[in-house]
Amino acid sequence: MLASTEKRFRPSCQRETNHVVVLVDKSFGKQPTPEQKRREFIKDFITGWAAGPFLANMDRFERHVICEHCGKKVIDE
Ligand SMILES: [Zn+2]
Repeated sequence: MLASTEKRFRPSCQRETNHVVVLVDKSFGKQPTPEQKRREFIKDFITGWAAGPFLANMDRFERHVICEHCGKKVIDE
């Protein structure tokens, strides 16, 4: 799990606040079948080859952005 912080304007807070950004693996908590694992591997391989490792990686993460001021969490798709 990766975490960082960034400043964002939050309408609900009426100001720019610090936000903790956590990248959550979408497959976390799920039990993939061996068949799904194999397909994911092939998909990663192809997208990694076509678009570079960075994009291939971002595709499987959700960005959870948590406001340090009000504690509200937003999920960026
Ligand atoms: Zn807030």
